Amino acid sequence: MVYLDNNATTPLDPAVANKMTWFLKEHFGNPSSLYPIGRQVKEMINEARENVAKALGANKAEIYFTGSGTEADNHAILGVLDALPEKREFVTSAIEHPAVQETAAYLEKKGYKVAYVPVDKYGTVDLDFLRDAVTVQTALVSIMHANNEIGTIQPVKTIVEIVKEKGALVHTDTVQSFGKIDFRADRLGVDLLSVSSHKIYGPKGVGALYVKKGTPIRPFVHGGHQERGLRAGTENTIGIIGFGEAARVLAEKFKEDKERTGKLADRLRKGIEEKIPKIRSNGHPENRIKSTLSYSFLGLEAEAILLALATKEIYVSTGSACTAESEEVSHVLTAIGLKPEFARSTVRMSLGRFNTDNDIDIVVRELPDIIKKLRRISAFNPEE
Ligand code: PLP
Repeated sequence: MVYLDNNATTPLDPAVANKMTWFLKEHFGNPSSLYPIGRQVKEMINEARENVAKALGANKAEIYFTGSGTEADNHAILGVLDALPEKREFVTSAIEHPAVQETAAYLEKKGYKVAYVPVDKYGTVDLDFLRDAVTVQTALVSIMHANNEIGTIQPVKTIVEIVKEKGALVHTDTVQSFGKIDFRADRLGVDLLSVSSHKIYGPKGVGALYVKKGTPIRPFVHGGHQERGLRAGTENTIGIIGFGEAARVLAEKFKEDKERTGKLADRLRKGIEEKIPKIRSNGHPENRIKSTLSYSFLGLEAEAILLALATKEIYVSTGSACTAESEEVSHVLTAIGLKPEFARSTVRMSLGRFNTDNDIDIVVRELPDIIKKLRRISAFNPEE
């Protein structure tokens, strides 16, 4: 199998699998219980918190575990707006993940004024538009760090400077940049950021929200006092332990991962561009996550390419995994100005820790043939 869909999810790192297996066998205590088997689990959760905090360049008191990256995004936005009821404006970008985009739509229904900052052809937000969109009524601006579909990285530090001048708060979705870009929460300058465990070789169904000390935020799930009153509900202990281990391993492997996947991505890109005519590369040419490749193969439906590759056990995605079941053209590809026929022909390949040179050899051998054959039977063959 050649797995090139690491932006959708990553396999568990073996060290994470070992730690989770051990934990599952040895520990069942409720971290809220005061006797030793509960206290031990609480301590392990705090170790996990420390590991996530370290990997993010944050203080452990600023990390709150959540049930997913999606929940962290929802909590950041709804929790801050709930804490600042006098401010009724929210600003975001046109290319956010549905976790933010759908929350913005919900806010509009609730009567908030929402501004969507457009992007240029490479997917970079329009900073002049942003400057005009943020007002003294704006409670929060939420703009993602790196895009999941095209890999473009936003100038978050500049965004923070612009927004702070108007006195608003900043949240950034770092689900796709965590583990791929060397950043520190404290140096980015944002007030809140979201991450997800299953994108960094940890288990699914667990994420974290960084809340800078002093940031106004209300609970999102109401109930017990878990997560220092911000997120009620008995903790997903096994998930959190796995996430903590994934963050610990990440701190060790970050540099090597980045160099290796960068080199593999360069080889894949070169192979595709040399061997396949009439294609378009999407995303910023430089300010991008190197391991995310997005190509439009003019004349073809992305699903046909995906299924043909799957018969060779090569797994990629069309646009974004989260929109795979919807017929709609990706809002990200539309926002960068792709015509629907280009957007529908777009395939995303995303590399990760466990990809090898052999994987790239296989794709560079198989993909050009598949494209050629599919184009031959397509109603519109741009190669003719
Ligand atoms: N934000 C971005 C940019 C993502 O790519 C994803 C997942 O694809 C999420 C948020 C949602 O994370 P989770 O799958 O943990 O809910």
